[in-house]
Order: sequence, then structure tokens, then C-alpha cells
Amino acid sequence: MAERRGSGLQILPHGFKSRLHLHTLTVKTFKATLAIDIGATKIAIAIADQDLRFIHRRTILISDSPDLTRDFHREILGIVSNSSFEVLGIGIASAGPIDRATGVISPVNIPTWRDFNLITFVQEILPGVPVSFLQDAVAVAYAEKRIGAGVDFQHMLGMVVSTGVGGGLILNDEIFHGELGNAGFFGHHSIDFNGAPCRCGRLGCVESISSGPSMVSFAQASGWSGPTNFESLSESARSGDVLALAAIERGTHGLAVGILNTLAILDISAVVIGGGVSFAGEIFWKPLRQHLRNEYTHMTLAREPIVVPAKLEKDAGLLGAALSAKTQ
Ligand SMILES: [Zn+2]
Repeated sequence: MAERRGSGLQILPHGFKSRLHLHTLTVKTFKATLAIDIGATKIAIAIADQDLRFIHRRTILISDSPDLTRDFHREILGIVSNSSFEVLGIGIASAGPIDRATGVISPVNIPTWRDFNLITFVQEILPGVPVSFLQDAVAVAYAEKRIGAGVDFQHMLGMVVSTGVGGGLILNDEIFHGELGNAGFFGHHSIDFNGAPCRCGRLGCVESISSGPSMVSFAQASGWSGPTNFESLSESARSGDVLALAAIERGTHGLAVGILNTLAILDISAVVIGGGVSFAGEIFWKPLRQHLRNEYTHMTLAREPIVVPAKLEKDAGLLGAALSAKTQ
């Protein structure tokens, strides 16, 4: 429909290209991807252009949202109602477990969403736009494979060690999703069947030993009195606190065991690790490498692991979501 601006020029229908009048027109100027990353603590929503630059973005803090479904709807609508771009694809990364075939998610860390149909929800806002849907740690692994620390690895385990512990698998240069989309659900494989209960209900999951909050809880239970966050624990460990050091030792040992289990099962050797805990630096990496070496000496059928830090840091999930949509 035609409309008028102060210049008096007629606004042309979408798709019409006019170099002379472009600055006055409300045409959709670029083709875009809607990228959504549903994490343990927040939901990030962004518009990515074709060079993977995020042009518009919004964040919902899950703990601050009294009605997450309503807020999610409002923020998506708010961002896509901007008329300057055309959304050609949607990429969604979600905390697991997910079901890629049906679009249903039941994130361990978001109790209000059980059997929530994410694809139906998003397609009601943007009908007809194709949706790519993958687990959040899988999205991170994919982004690292395509444009990050994993570009040279044909096979790799990509991991996020943060509030939770997640993983995704790249096999033969492609995402390996598994039957439901949860392949590489690293944090919830058990490394101690006599261990403490995990949030998921099993005993001794890697996440219940090696996530940032798990290491902090272990330290506090053994008498460490610092604030409840991993930054404080790592700071305390750097200054030589034996209880903080012991908690990080235990957490990184759990990770090393889980990593070598995965590498042995798949007969692969490359691992890329990101997430807030991994950004703590040598206080995390030094004991992790030591435990990997110690555990590896007893393995006979696997190649020595190549474990490298992620390159993409905090936007890795969004980038993976956007990349997966672009390749449809
Ligand atoms: Zn678990």
C-alpha cells in the first residue's frame, strides 16, 4: 500500500529498488534471520543480517519474568515488527531436552515450560518462515565448528561449562542430532552411579559435579564461606584457598572423566570448551588438563585428546542458531 513522507515522494511497494529514492522509502532493506537462544537463565532474541551481524537484539531474564510465554511472545513480536528487514529464516537454540521432530521442549532449567511447542509458537508469529531447531549446546558446537575454534576438526565434541554443562557433536563435519536432537547431552550422563541426585533425577551426572553452581555448592558444603558464584570461587582458588581449590579439582576431574568417556565411545579426539566457567582461565584449565592426562594414561583405544578453548564466547548459541537457519 502506498504512503507518503514529508518529501512528498511516493513510497513504493516492498521489493522495488530505486537508488534515487532509497533513503526516503520504508522498503525492507535487508534479508535477515531471526535467531533465538533459550538458555538456563535468559532468552536472547536477535536479528542477524547475512554477514551474521546482530542488528537488533532483546534479552529476557527468566527469573525476572512472571509470565515467560507472554514475555517471549511480546519480545519476538517487538523485534520482527521492525519494517527494515525481511525475515527469511528462523534459527532456534534451546536448552534441552528437546524433540526436533515435534518442536516440543521441556528444559531442565525452565520448570514453567513442560511440553512447550516452540515451533508452533514461533510459526504463529511468523507464518510460513522455515524454522531450524536445535539444542543450545549443539548450536554452540556448530558455531565453533563453522566460524570458531573447531573449523579444522572433522569430528568434535563442543561443550559449554557454565550454570549447566552441555554438549553437542560434530561428526563428519556435520551436526549429529541423534533421534530427538539431544545427541551430546553431555551434562546428564552419569559418572558416579552412587553420586548425589542431579536436577534431572539421575545420580552423579557430570552437571551435578562440574557445573559452576555445583562446584560452589561442594565448596560451601566443605566449609568455604564465599559468595554463591563461580567467579568468587575461582578468585578464592587463585589466592590459594584450599577448599576452593579442592572444589575446582573435583569439578574438573568430573569433566575429564566425562570427556574421555565420550571420546572413547565415539573414537574422536577433539573437544572445544566454552561457557562462563571455562573463561576463568588457568585456574580451570590447568587442573582439567592434568586430569585429562592422568585419565588418558589408562586408555588404550583412544587417541590423545585435543582440548581447546572456544573462540566465540557469549554469542555462540545465537550464532549457531543463525548459522543453522542460513543453511536450510
Ligand atoms: Zn542430570
